[in-house]
Amino acid sequence: MARLPAMPNSLRAPRGTRDILPADRVVWARVEGAARELAARYGYREIETPLFEQSAVFERGVGEVTDIVEKELFRVSPSRGEERERWALRPEATAGIVRAYVEHGLHTLPQPIRLSLVGPMFRYDRPQAGRYRQFWQWDVEAIGDPGPAIDAEIIELGLAFYRATGLVDVEAKLNTIGDAACRPAYVESLRAFYEAHRSGLPEAELRRLGANPLRLLDSKEPALVALNRDAPKLADHLCDPCAEHFSAVLRHLDALGVRYRLAPEIVRGLDYYTRTTFEYFRPGAEGQQDALGGGGRYDGLVELLGGRPTPAIGYALGIDRVVAAVQALEANASETTGGATGAAPAGPLAVVVGADPADTVTRLTLATELRAAGLPARADLTTRKLGKQLESAARDGAHFAAILGDGGDGQIQLRDLPAGTQRAVPAADVVRELERAARTHRHGTDAG
Ligand code: AMP
Repeated sequence: MARLPAMPNSLRAPRGTRDILPADRVVWARVEGAARELAARYGYREIETPLFEQSAVFERGVGEVTDIVEKELFRVSPSRGEERERWALRPEATAGIVRAYVEHGLHTLPQPIRLSLVGPMFRYDRPQAGRYRQFWQWDVEAIGDPGPAIDAEIIELGLAFYRATGLVDVEAKLNTIGDAACRPAYVESLRAFYEAHRSGLPEAELRRLGANPLRLLDSKEPALVALNRDAPKLADHLCDPCAEHFSAVLRHLDALGVRYRLAPEIVRGLDYYTRTTFEYFRPGAEGQQDALGGGGRYDGLVELLGGRPTPAIGYALGIDRVVAAVQALEANASETTGGATGAAPAGPLAVVVGADPADTVTRLTLATELRAAGLPARADLTTRKLGKQLESAARDGAHFAAILGDGGDGQIQLRDLPAGTQRAVPAADVVRELERAARTHRHGTDAG
């Protein structure tokens, strides 16, 4: 939609954010609806957490030496009173959900507890295609089950979601990053490897090397991408329990017929992951900005946030990128079929219009009656002429116009706007007539 040229920049939506206008919201609602429906079907119950938390929740729960906390945390600093606290907008859902799990003692409920959250996340990153400062994720977490079967359940759930949205070619890339028993030795061999190549490492990566050499494995720096091909592989350093866990995850996935690819570069950006890690991609779209989602096991996080040691696994799927892919797919399909496939926002079943422009009382009253009967209806509440009211109702996609005459004959003209036909019905029968029309309308047999 065209922007007002006179609008000053200072009033526009902030960089990296977007308005989702009604025409696009239809696709969003469909995608979110698929997530919610699957969450319910798989027994993942909805949870909501605050959009902001004390920064410490993310500093601890995501990890201090991560891009998310180092560079992208959207800090909030209110300027008044109590608000000396340090807050940040949530960059992801897991830390907040685990904070809630600990704070409310959810370990006393039957375990594992399966949770689902669809909502906006915030990262103060450089905005670019597919990377926003406010974006949406569908997050699921299963807390209190060491796996491996639940690892497979969650990986398969993600794929079921992409399939439900029409993205049937999405694949899971899968890895394991070991645990506290075997990862330290691996991290040391990784450190030694990078130390031997120190001269080729950019400044920022050198700093990371001190804190967490694992982070260099998924670096976007071209020099590192090349170097990483020769880096030691965790698969060669796994302890027996981690190796068994991973092979059991694969066994469950094989039994489910899930397609996956082993991908040693999937180490995830967050410190708290253990064992299973995975990301979702479409073949051919596998760059950093293309990941459609990712997740993993985080057996240490509950304890890190003050709970007792509790195993857990979850994922976060990027809704924005799924919507973009679905819209691209539908645009392609409509190009090849020559028709539109995307559903427009549904218009009302009926708009109440009237020959007496000033009589908004009768129009509003009838519309309210129709709505009380469960019918999607509205009245034209302006005082423009009948012709203009009808024109506007048709443009809005209304199926019927209920036309109030100016005589007191108790008759209402019911006009089928697309068909251009019209008949008189007694005012007392309008609700019944429209209910009948709504039924046939819904069943797609309204042509006659
Ligand atoms: P992450 O936890 O960073 O792996 O994020 C999980 C998923 O969320 C990614 O695979 C993306 O699909 C999506 N995502 C992450 N950051 C952004 C962003 N800044 N803008 C849009 N989508 C994002």
